[in-house]
Amino acid sequence: MLIETFILGSLSTNCYVVSSEKTKDAIVIDPGLDFSLEADQIFDYITQASLNVKLIVNTHGHPDHISGDAVFQEKYNVPICIHRSDAASLKGLENVNFPAAVLLEDGGLIKFGDESLKVMHTPGHTPGSICLLGERLVFTGDTLFAGGIGRTDFPGGSDTYMRLSLQKLMRLPDYFFIYPGHGSTSIMGEEKRANPFLTS
Ligand SMILES: [Zn+2]
Ligand SMILES: [Zn+2]
Repeated sequence: MLIETFILGSLSTNCYVVSSEKTKDAIVIDPGLDFSLEADQIFDYITQASLNVKLIVNTHGHPDHISGDAVFQEKYNVPICIHRSDAASLKGLENVNFPAAVLLEDGGLIKFGDESLKVMHTPGHTPGSICLLGERLVFTGDTLFAGGIGRTDFPGGSDTYMRLSLQKLMRLPDYFFIYPGHGSTSIMGEEKRANPFLTS
C-alpha cells in the first residue's frame, strides 16, 4: 500500500492518496480544498503515478475534509464515501453527484485493487467520524492526532462517544502507524505512552 500526503487549505488538512502498488487502483481520503487549484498537484501525482482513482473517502463531514469532493468527483467520476451519520454534510456542497454517494457503516470494507481498508466508526468529533484500518496502519481523521485529539465542542460532538472511540483505538497494536487528519504521523505505541488524552 502506497501513501502520498498532501497538505491542503488554511487548516492544513492532510489529504491522502492511497494506492495499490500492484494494480494502481487508488482512493483519495479527505480532499479538503480552499481553492480548486490546490487539486492540481494531486491530479499531477495521480497522472504521473498512473493511478486509477476508484473512490473518494471522507473521514467525517467537516468542510476542511470534504470541500474538494466535488472537484475530485468531477475529475474522476467516482463515488464519495462517508459514514451515514455525517452524510448530510455533503448536501451543503455544490455539484456533488448524490446518487453516487456510498454510505459507510462500522465494519465495512473499502476496496481498491488488491488492497482494502476497514471502516471503524469512531464518533465523538462528529457523529459520523470514522477511522480506516489497514493491516498495520490507521487513518484517524480528526479523532486522534499525534499528541492530541479532535475537538468535541462542535455541533454533533460528544465527549462520551469520543472516550469510547479512543478506547477502541487503544486496542490497536503499538506498531500501528497513525495517519491523522491534521499534523504529523505517529505510531500507536507512542500515543499510548505520551498522548495525555489516551494515558489519563
Ligand atoms: Zn473535523
Ligand atoms: Zn479537520
